[in-house]
Amino acid sequence: MDFKKFNFSSRIADNIRNCGYEHPTPIQEEAMPKIMDGKDLLGLAQTGTGKTAAFALPIIQKLAAGPRGKIGALVVAPTRELAEQINESFRDLAEGTGLRTVTVYGGVGKGGQLQEFKQGVEVVIACPGRLLDHLNNHGLKLDKVETLVLDEADQMFDMGFLPDIRRILKHLPRQRQTLLFSATMPADIRKLADETLHNPVEVRIKLEQPLEAISQVLIPVSKRQRANLLLQLLKETEEGSTLVFSRTKYGAKNLAKKLNKNGIKAVDLQGNMSQNQRQRALTGFRDGDFTVLVATDIAARGIDVSRVGQVINYDLPSTAEAYTHRIGRTGRAQRSGRAVSFIGHDDKAMIKAIERLQGKSIELLVVDGFSMGEEGDEPPPHQAKPRGKKKPQATNRSPVKKQTRSGNKVKKSPAKQQSGNIFGLAKKGK
Ligand code: AMP
Repeated sequence: MDFKKFNFSSRIADNIRNCGYEHPTPIQEEAMPKIMDGKDLLGLAQTGTGKTAAFALPIIQKLAAGPRGKIGALVVAPTRELAEQINESFRDLAEGTGLRTVTVYGGVGKGGQLQEFKQGVEVVIACPGRLLDHLNNHGLKLDKVETLVLDEADQMFDMGFLPDIRRILKHLPRQRQTLLFSATMPADIRKLADETLHNPVEVRIKLEQPLEAISQVLIPVSKRQRANLLLQLLKETEEGSTLVFSRTKYGAKNLAKKLNKNGIKAVDLQGNMSQNQRQRALTGFRDGDFTVLVATDIAARGIDVSRVGQVINYDLPSTAEAYTHRIGRTGRAQRSGRAVSFIGHDDKAMIKAIERLQGKSIELLVVDGFSMGEEGDEPPPHQAKPRGKKKPQATNRSPVKKQTRSGNKVKKSPAKQQSGNIFGLAKKGK
């Protein structure tokens, strides 16, 4: 199956080839004909499935045939990084068609965006807050929009954007095509979909990357030992880049600092950074100037960083779905990858939820010299370490071990300690 059956113009077909896309991904195959038919669409799919091109290509094909100078398509996305990434896809796929795109988000000056509106654009890719600002205060008009895309709707909901989205909807013509993409379908998103979509077709695409291609381990380790364990793991990582997830912005920032102090080229990506700082971090990581990116879920959401050799969950995320999203960043494009999660006493329920979601248990790796410590012997997250407090004792009474189901193998690794390599596994995973 190739792209021919969609009858894209020769210019667009060239662009698809230049992007290196030979065959449509499952979501492209399923969704594009329906979008090209003018149908509303509810797409249950996440980053990595090729969903951006699935909506960008039909939009480009349609708008390229129409007049210039009117905003014919609006894409609303939760983060600036995702907006930029979508914009890049549009630019690549629309090259030579004369279509103009603009990204609209806060944290940067408004002047450039206003200037682009003035010169005329056909596609606007926006985060909700700044878009509303332009609509309310700068006379931006969206009354010619033919296609609206709400991308990563669940993330927009998590970030509290739904009221803004409802306000934006009031500026759009009722007669339009709406495409809503979401990785998960919580009740609020279902409600939003019911309100905004008319007789939608529903397309569900599972993770493109089979979880089997990713080796997963859980390592019991107390919070105060985590930085040391991370350093040790990173020093053993021979090649490829590492994405480390931290639950908080503060944690991500501090961890990146600590890694740098220890000679590891790391950068953080979190919501307290300016747009320029984020872009620099991301570009530096993509280009290999940094080997480690320490990110929060929201900042990293939707970002396509291929070539990630391993994902390390410094803290487990708060939902099992988020765990799947996180580890899906490794092992892309037929590469095998590794996902390592640091776990503590508080994580029992989450591990159960993750294992239930995956329908299998995850290997537990006990690393000599590291343990969860005694229950209750942990400082609250990101609080200064109490001085003079008794060091956690390695315990044989690890609750995770106790609750581990039969499939979980507990690995002891004395030989690895001798060689200084925690991961005999490191090589196994490659
Ligand atoms: P997305 O899910 O839209 O973030 O896309 C994930 C990655 O897949 C991006 O790097 C795209 O450039 C790439 N991609 C999209 N469509 C195709 C395709 N048909 N063949 C190969 N790669 C693709």
